[in-house]
Amino acid sequence: TGEFQGLVAVVTGGASGIGLNTARELASRGATVAVLDLAPGELDEGLHGFQADVRDRASVDAAIAAVATELGGIDIVVNNAGISAIGSVEESTDEDWARVLDVNVTGMARVTAAALPHLRQSSHAAVVNLSSIAALNGLPQRALYSASKGAVLALTFAMATDHVRDGIRVNCVSPGTVHTPFVDRFLTQFEDPEAEMAALNARQATGRMVSTQEVADAICYLASPRSGSTTGTALDVDGGMTHL
Ligand code: NAD
Repeated sequence: TGEFQGLVAVVTGGASGIGLNTARELASRGATVAVLDLAPGELDEGLHGFQADVRDRASVDAAIAAVATELGGIDIVVNNAGISAIGSVEESTDEDWARVLDVNVTGMARVTAAALPHLRQSSHAAVVNLSSIAALNGLPQRALYSASKGAVLALTFAMATDHVRDGIRVNCVSPGTVHTPFVDRFLTQFEDPEAEMAALNARQATGRMVSTQEVADAICYLASPRSGSTTGTALDVDGGMTHL
């Protein structure tokens, strides 16, 4: 038993980092969890892997249809799949823009659109999107990434409006820096990764990185029927970076 008993959750990018911790947390609280990822690989018992590339509409449609058929509908979507990009506008090529927006923004729209017919059938439908503190804080060397995460905020508010009458809530979480493989890969792109890591920690008022568990707990709250009156919001889980 648990608060998500009887509910089916889809977590995109659920094979690593924040997504994996969220998938585990949802499952531990009773959800049946589908992990959609490029190559889900070996997953914990209780997590169901589905191969999907959020850049490809046919792949998303097929995976979402398979989840709904095999697991019995869809109640919750966590749009977590995302990629990073470093650089100012001068350093970002058109190919960089196309690649990052395709995954971080259009990918989110594709997955949600495919899931909507199933979410409409649910009495506890919730969508949780991953934005970032990069949306609201002018971080150095993050022009493209920040723009993509700002678009996620706007998309969250727009989707919340469009689907509120169908009983579907849409919110997003804006994490500060969370130590995941994503951040390790990101840091290797800097000349001095350790200095960049120290700078990232210092920007958070708490002086430390956010844990994947803290982000997973916030996502679970927004996915849960307990947040039934919360829609069209962004929850900062950022060690105070945005407002302190
Ligand atoms: P991660 O790299 O550890 O995991 C991302 C997952 O997404 C991977 O399993 C990857 O295979 C999957 N993925 C990437 N492209 C995909 C595609 N085209 N189709 C399907 N799956 C794809 O990353 P993370 O740090 O856990 O980040 C997860 C989300 O949280 C991202 O949206 C990221 O922008 C956001 N975020 C992360 C941080 C941080 O500091 N780590 C901070 C704020 C926001």
